[in-house]
Amino acid sequence: MIISGKDLAKRIKSDIAAQVPGLTEKYGRAPHLVVILVGEDPGSVSYVTGKARDCEEVGFKNTTLRYPDTISEEELLDVVRQLNDDDDVDGVLVQLPLPKHISEAKVIETIAKEKDVDGFHPLNVAALWQKQPCLLPCTPKGIIRMLDEAGVDIEGKNAVVIGRSNIVGLPVSKLLLDRNATVTITHSRTRNLGDVTSKADILVVAIGRPKFVTADMVGEGAAVIDVGVNRDPETGKLCGDVDYEACKDKASVITPVPGGVGPMTRACLMENTLECYLNKFANK
Ligand code: NAP
Repeated sequence: MIISGKDLAKRIKSDIAAQVPGLTEKYGRAPHLVVILVGEDPGSVSYVTGKARDCEEVGFKNTTLRYPDTISEEELLDVVRQLNDDDDVDGVLVQLPLPKHISEAKVIETIAKEKDVDGFHPLNVAALWQKQPCLLPCTPKGIIRMLDEAGVDIEGKNAVVIGRSNIVGLPVSKLLLDRNATVTITHSRTRNLGDVTSKADILVVAIGRPKFVTADMVGEGAAVIDVGVNRDPETGKLCGDVDYEACKDKASVITPVPGGVGPMTRACLMENTLECYLNKFANK
C-alpha cells in the first residue's frame, strides 16, 4: 500500500480552506504567513514558491520577502524582529539553509515563539521534549499523520529512525515515543545498520542519500517512511533515501518520493499557520 502524502495533504488543505472565510469574517482578516528567502538557491526558491502556492490554495495571505545573499546577519535579524512586532503577521518562516555568514541558530532564536510555524525555536523544541503544548515541527508531524492515515498502529511497535537531525530524526523519534513506540535512533556511526533496520515494524529514513535503503534492510511487512529528497545520480530525477522499487513489495505501507512526506510537510505548515492565528485571537 502506497501512502499518498499528496492526497492527504490535499484533504488537509481543503479542510483549512473551508474554515478561512468564516474566520476572516470573525477576526477581520485571514491568516498571514511571511516567508523570508535569502539568496537564489534553486531548491530554496522552489520550496518557497510551493509554500506561497499552498497559502493561495487555502486562502491565507502570503508574503515572500526576498533578500540577496549579501544581506548581513544584523539586517536579517532586524527584518525578523519587525515581523515579530507586526500584529498582522501570524507566522514567520526563514527558508534554510542560510549563507555561511549568518547564524541559523541566531535567526531561529529571534523568531517569536508564537510565530514559529516551523517549530524550530528552542522554546518550542524544549516544550516538545517536556510534553508541553507547542508548535510541532512540520515534517515529523506530517509523518505521524501519514502513519495514522495508513492505519499503522504505532503503540508498542519497534520503530527505527535513520538520522538524528534537529529537524527530522530527533523530533520524529520523540513523536513516535509519545505514541508509545519503542524507538531506536540510528546514524552514521551505527554498526550493522541493516540488522537494526530489518527488525523495524516502522522504519523512518531521513539521511539525504539516494536509494540508500535496500530491500535487505527492510523487514517483511514494515511501514516505511522515506523523508529523503535527492537527485538520482543515474536519471537526474527526484528520488528518496529508500530504493522504492526494490523495497515496495516487502513493505506493508510505503511513502513515495515525490508525493509523500514533502506535500505533507507543507500541509502541516498551513496547519501551524492557522494554529498561530487562532492562538493569537483566542489569547486576546
Ligand atoms: P541531515 O541534517 O544531513 O542529517 C542526516 C542524518 O543522516 C544524520 O543524522 C547522519 O548521521 C545520518 N546519516 C548520514 N549518513 C548515514 C549513513 N551512512 N548511515 C546512517 N545514517 C547516516 O539531514 P536532514 O535535514 O535530517 O534531512 C535528511 C533528508 O530529508 C534530506 O534528503 C533532506 O532533503 C530531506 N528532508 C525532507 C523534508 C521533506 O519535507 N520531505 C524535510 C526535511 C528534510 P550523523 O548524525 O551521524 O552525521
